[in-house]
Amino acid sequence: MLSGEDTWCQGYSEPDAGSDLASLTTRATREGEEWVIDGQKVWTSGAHHSDWIFVLARTDREAPKHRGISFLLVPLRQPGVEVRPFRMMSGQLHFNEVFFDGARTRADLVVGGVDNGWTVAQSLLGVERGEEAATNPILFRAEVERLVALARQYGKDQDPVIRQRIAWCWSKVEIMRFLGYRILTGWLKGAEPGPETSIAKLYWSEYHTKVTDLALDIMGLHGQVPAGRPPLRTYRTDDPGAANSSASWSTTYLIARSGTIYAGTSQVQRNILAEKVLGLPREPRTQAG
Ligand SMILES: Cc1cc2nc3c(=O)[nH]c(=O)nc-3n(C[C@H](O)[C@H](O)[C@H](O)COP(=O)(O)OP(=O)(O)OC[C@H]3O[C@@H](n4cnc5c(N)ncnc54)[C@H](O)[C@@H]3O)c2cc1C
Repeated sequence: MLSGEDTWCQGYSEPDAGSDLASLTTRATREGEEWVIDGQKVWTSGAHHSDWIFVLARTDREAPKHRGISFLLVPLRQPGVEVRPFRMMSGQLHFNEVFFDGARTRADLVVGGVDNGWTVAQSLLGVERGEEAATNPILFRAEVERLVALARQYGKDQDPVIRQRIAWCWSKVEIMRFLGYRILTGWLKGAEPGPETSIAKLYWSEYHTKVTDLALDIMGLHGQVPAGRPPLRTYRTDDPGAANSSASWSTTYLIARSGTIYAGTSQVQRNILAEKVLGLPREPRTQAG
């Protein structure tokens, strides 16, 4: 992975298991020295150019739904796997459906032990939510600077309401920086990713929808130009002209919305914080859960 020879993708979500991930039904059955996998994943980013997928699969169907799940490493390029990319409304390819029909992987390619995949998945999601603690404040600060340049370009830099909104963005990024320090300090001391990663994820993703709202407000009708630039995130600082183009901001505006969904939606993060940090009553669970 480090050398970039193998590209990996994440096989968690299923058609009926997104926020309620523990409802997943993809199953793996042990046959001799192999696991045989059947089921379907969806929204799998980058599967169309990946070599491997880590799959959450049910290995004990009798166990309660958060147990009996294993975290398997599965080669994608094999006869039992079909990867079907689908095109987004922006015209780009990013997501896939991944179908497993008797796909196979070696018996020892299980992370964290058989039937212990839920713990591994939670830990990995915590890292995914907090991984940008160090870099986000830098990237978002650069974005605010581009926003200031955009306001000047459109002659809005003396507009008191726009100035107030830009100042709000600047102060939010400063708070993000201190949140990031708090997370990194915990991790450097050896703490496992905890609910503080939900605060970080909720904070930056909701912020990003607001800052891109502002960019489009500054651009007026130019902001309605269809998104034309392909990158998943547009944080370039070396090319301010391109980064300030309406196409770039309108693409970033769309991408910002997805930030409130992947790695657990904003509502899911609020549930985690309500239950694990504030100690509010748990959401009603189904009998199976
Ligand atoms: C850009 C992007 C990349 C992604 N990449 C991957 C990937 O590589 N691999 C992968 O496995 N998945 C991936 N996903 C899928 C992502 O993890 C799911 O979309 C997400 O977990 C939400 O699940 P869902 O889409 O099924 O929505 P649902 O779970 O059906 O949710 C629908 C709505 O109901 C709300 N909701 C659901 N439950 C509750 C509740 N208990 N309380 C309050 N509100 C609730 C949600 O917040 C949401 O607004 C990606 C998604 C995006 C947007």
